[in-house]
Amino acid sequence: MTDTLVFYSALDPFEDWRDALTPHLGDAVQIQNHDAITDPEKVRYALVWMPPDGFFARFPNLSLVTNLGAGVDRLVARDDLPDVPVTRLSDPEMGRMMASFVLFAVLRHARNIPFFEAAQMRREWAYKHPRPATDISVAVLGLGELGALAATEIARQGFVTHGWATRPKDLPGVTVHHGDDALDQVLGLADIVVSQLPLTPRTRKLLNAERFARMKPDASFINVSRGEVVDETALVAALKAGHLSGATLDVFEKEPLASDHPLWSVPGVLITPHLASVALPKSAAPQIAANIHAIRRGDELRNTVSRVHGY
Ligand code: NDP
Repeated sequence: MTDTLVFYSALDPFEDWRDALTPHLGDAVQIQNHDAITDPEKVRYALVWMPPDGFFARFPNLSLVTNLGAGVDRLVARDDLPDVPVTRLSDPEMGRMMASFVLFAVLRHARNIPFFEAAQMRREWAYKHPRPATDISVAVLGLGELGALAATEIARQGFVTHGWATRPKDLPGVTVHHGDDALDQVLGLADIVVSQLPLTPRTRKLLNAERFARMKPDASFINVSRGEVVDETALVAALKAGHLSGATLDVFEKEPLASDHPLWSVPGVLITPHLASVALPKSAAPQIAANIHAIRRGDELRNTVSRVHGY
């Protein structure tokens, strides 16, 4: 019997994903966009990015839900998510795209680019002596699929690199700290703090006024994970008070960021519209297909999400 995979994303083109998946799934699985499904009972797999409320109720025979991205916070928080395994993408190209964005943001602060941009606006030749990477500490909070790669790339550039996760781990060139008690120490060590933490009940608004106060005076902050990990009012206050010297922000509590949000006009802040990394059909298709084949055979799945931990 041919099973069906239902696709939903308001951002990603269905045709690109269908064309990338077809060679890996063959005739065993029919790939259909959500609005083309005529027989919902045949739908066994869902490949989705933020489907509307009630989406899953139409498909009583689902056996696998794959999140079309790395961040699963919205998916696991839903009350209509069926009780089946949930997997996420863990795509090397996506990791490289994120690591290059994080590296760009770290270099932006390490090489004082906001200072030169401000001077240029004033048509001023303002010299600031560069610091070597070995004099600059960077802390990466969250050392998962994406965070670990970003941290090792930062270390490869010669920065003194610290990382923070729930558990110890070995990463070349990175001093890894773990557990809640280590956070304040890590924040106090870094000239540049990067959030690569997933949004979970434990990380929501983790970076609040108290945590920003723990950061070194003049530290910079980079957020490429989820806006809700940060208390945005506290971030604006820390930037406006001059305690933080700048920020590179790709994610926000409410997206799109409202045009009257104070962050738009804080000096030293760069805002990008949630694009540090995206799911790429060609490189992600083999792992999505491999999990579908695995579940058909009853084999173990890869890149599963823990509903208990929320990532
Ligand atoms: P993973 O889920 O693979 O890893 C999460 C990491 O965070 C792990 O190292 C984990 O520790 C750590 N962590 C989780 N909770 C805590 C906690 N309470 N205290 C300390 N450490 C914690 O995430 P990824 O690296 O794949 O991605 C991170 C996030 O990036 C995603 O959840 C998503 O929100 C965001 N993202 C943003 C994109 C963008 O374009 N801006 C694109 C893609 C993803 P441990 O290793 O010990 O489990």
